[in-house]
Amino acid sequence: IPLLRLEGVTKRYGATTALDGVHFDLRAGEVHALMGENGAGKSTLMKILAGNVQRDAGRILLDGAPVEIESPKDATALGIAIIHQELNTVPAMTVAENLALGREPRTRWGSLDRRALLREAREKLDRIGADIDPRRELGSLSVGMQQMVEIARAVSEDARVLVLDEPTAALSRGESLQLYRLVREMRAAGVGLVYISHRMEEVWELADRITVFRDGGYVGTRERTEINPSD
Ligand code: ADP
Ligand code: ADP
Repeated sequence: IPLLRLEGVTKRYGATTALDGVHFDLRAGEVHALMGENGAGKSTLMKILAGNVQRDAGRILLDGAPVEIESPKDATALGIAIIHQELNTVPAMTVAENLALGREPRTRWGSLDRRALLREAREKLDRIGADIDPRRELGSLSVGMQQMVEIARAVSEDARVLVLDEPTAALSRGESLQLYRLVREMRAAGVGLVYISHRMEEVWELADRITVFRDGGYVGTRERTEINPSD
């Protein structure tokens, strides 16, 4: 059974059907690319997994069991992490504080041992090989580095499903290569990755399977080896 399955998921916004009975499977340890033109429904799928949007019909199964994702908190509790353009982080706080978000209530930061916070943050950044000073204000980092902080947080929360939304859109070539390496490491560790991208070359480089949406409809899923048998 797949790690994550969407069955007949439908979402309407008034007269617009953003998702029309979509099926989507994610295995543990795969990079599953999701492609489609603007308006195809990719963001809607992501928001449903993030707990920011509720579906109108269909089922979501995790390890074969139906789940409800009614809030971002539910998503985190289920081990689903979303790395997207509008970052979940707080730019005015330090990297270390952002890495402690969700675990320590806001009001307790004042009483948190600052050195312990920094040590934990360093450990989390080390786990993904990110060379970032946890004392820096998050907003002062490049988008790529901010994304790395988000990924470090997801990894530290033992996310099993990671959704990446156009992750390289704002990255330099060097940062993109670092991200690809990280994606491969997470795949090897058994994480299921949904990789939303319109860049064919990076999808080609990373994806085990590719699903295409068009106008809220599911067009199809192909194994990488079906597309390029010489692979
Ligand atoms: P994609 O991410 O693939 O570009 P979206 O999921 O953003 O696609 O959008 C799918 C369809 O749903 C589009 O027609 C879009 O205009 C519509 N849509 C998305 N969000 C809303 C919303 N909040 N209100 C109304 N229509 C929306
Ligand atoms: P993204 O591709 O990152 O979702 P968009 O520019 O498509 O960015 O959408 C920005 C916001 O507007 C999103 O929250 C989306 O749900 C909403 N939105 C998208 N299309 C529509 C629409 N046709 N009517 C109302 N809201 C929409």
